[in-house]
Amino acid sequence: MAATSETPVAAAPRRKTGRHRGEGQWAAGHFTPLNANEQVKKDDDGLNVRTRIETIYAQRGFDSIDPSDLRGRMRWWGLYTQRKPGIDGGKTAVLAPEELDDEHFMLRVRIDGGRLTTDQLRVVGEVSQEFARGTADITDRQNIQYHWIRIEDVPEIWRRLEAVGLSTTEACGDTPRVVLGSPVAGIAEDEILDGTPAIEEIQRRVVGNPAFSNLPRKFKSAVSGSPLLDVAHEINDVSFVGVVHPEHGPGFDLWVGGGLSTNPRLGVRLGAWVPLDEVPDVYEAVISVFRDHGYRRLRNRARLKFLVADWGAPKFRRVLEEEYLRRPLTDGPAPEQPVERWRDHVGVHRQQDGRFYVGFAPRVGRVDGATLTKIAALAEDHGSGRLRTTAEQKMIVLDVPEAQVASLVAGLEALDLRIAPSPFRRGTMACTGIEFCKLAIVETKARGASLIDELERRLPDFDEPLTINVNGCPNACARIQVADIGLKGQLVLDDHGHQVEGFQVHLGGALGLEAGFGRKVRGLKVTSAELPDYVERVLRRFQEQRTDGERFAQ
Ligand code: SF4
Repeated sequence: MAATSETPVAAAPRRKTGRHRGEGQWAAGHFTPLNANEQVKKDDDGLNVRTRIETIYAQRGFDSIDPSDLRGRMRWWGLYTQRKPGIDGGKTAVLAPEELDDEHFMLRVRIDGGRLTTDQLRVVGEVSQEFARGTADITDRQNIQYHWIRIEDVPEIWRRLEAVGLSTTEACGDTPRVVLGSPVAGIAEDEILDGTPAIEEIQRRVVGNPAFSNLPRKFKSAVSGSPLLDVAHEINDVSFVGVVHPEHGPGFDLWVGGGLSTNPRLGVRLGAWVPLDEVPDVYEAVISVFRDHGYRRLRNRARLKFLVADWGAPKFRRVLEEEYLRRPLTDGPAPEQPVERWRDHVGVHRQQDGRFYVGFAPRVGRVDGATLTKIAALAEDHGSGRLRTTAEQKMIVLDVPEAQVASLVAGLEALDLRIAPSPFRRGTMACTGIEFCKLAIVETKARGASLIDELERRLPDFDEPLTINVNGCPNACARIQVADIGLKGQLVLDDHGHQVEGFQVHLGGALGLEAGFGRKVRGLKVTSAELPDYVERVLRRFQEQRTDGERFAQ
């Protein structure tokens, strides 16, 4: 059974305890590394690679980089080698990592809470143009990713980003990754409460702290006081979701153990209500449980979701309270179901203070450095000094006076950034794909963008909220399992029996209203070339057959 926000705590997925002794948990005294990744982490803290990058690798170049830094510890500073151009998806699984490595890097800038000033965005755009061949993608975790980064330029990039308060620290690796936050925290009229102070305190306590820099795997987190549930809280390792307690007032409902990729699981509620000022303590306790009790034998069982599945919610809460917080948590209610299907804040909306925020949609999160610089200038010209990125690969300009809204909208539209996008542009996300990702099998960004254009042309009247998530491989960076139409990249046979790029189709997944995983449509694989025809057929059939009020996902 898929867990939902209505799932009773006692019904959380649970397996027999005791079956997985010897999973390499530190709490059970297993400090001898059981795989190569654990060995690399034990040999040297990933955070320490920064000194080597600054003093050796940036001076001597790519070939001087130690292999266990190159494919391991560099991630602690947001760096991954990118895929060598021209290697097709059929070779992904057969080539050795060094044969796939290009001498350029992807560099991820963490943007906790999605909060950016216009000064910061301008620097992000300038770095893109000067050092990243203009690349800059908004990710579905509110980060911005560059490509084509040379190791020689990394210290200067850090200097520029850090001068405006941005960083790449622990943007990747087995670390506390970016903390997602409601992109309209502190400004939305319907806000339950503003989680920003908690996010700032979590950043201060854990990011770059060696006490949390060797986790079993990545640790994803989210804090949102928006009733729209706008941070995909169901698929984070820990989430704090805004609720109103009948006695204590606004606070957060605590969820743990969500995650996609292999063995996807929705997070489960612990049934606990956490006031704003206690969120950092509870976050620290949950991440400590993960560090100490998380599985370290097999990489594909090392996310927190496996521990939560084995323990069950009641045991997890008990350990959290008794061994880490040393006090009981307060019982609390589940979040209300959101009234809206879209959670991306696109469009023009009034703020608490009477000014407006303006959310806009690029295609599949793809922008570029020059555009980011222009967005920063446009925002400033219209009275704003703040922006936010969203967990749906979108962006928002905050604090716009009413008299300036129409002119800002016109300026954004002129940059092909839509304020009232079609459902296809609004609801389509794509991961990095074969252009840069070494694990990819198929192309995704350009494919997703052309799919949007085709669907807009073929179905101009379609007005149903819809999510189409395009992934370049069986991993789940673009959340295929929770999309209305999830497309998992793989090689498929065309009509002539030739292997070509294509997708396994998953239908009917969702977050929010009725969270659940899409069904893999048995045997249904489409080639990339056939994709627009297939999606058009599915959507036309839905339009013809839907009954009143029926959503696409039903
Ligand atoms: Fe790469 Fe696969 Fe993730 Fe896409 S889903 S970014 S192809 S690992």
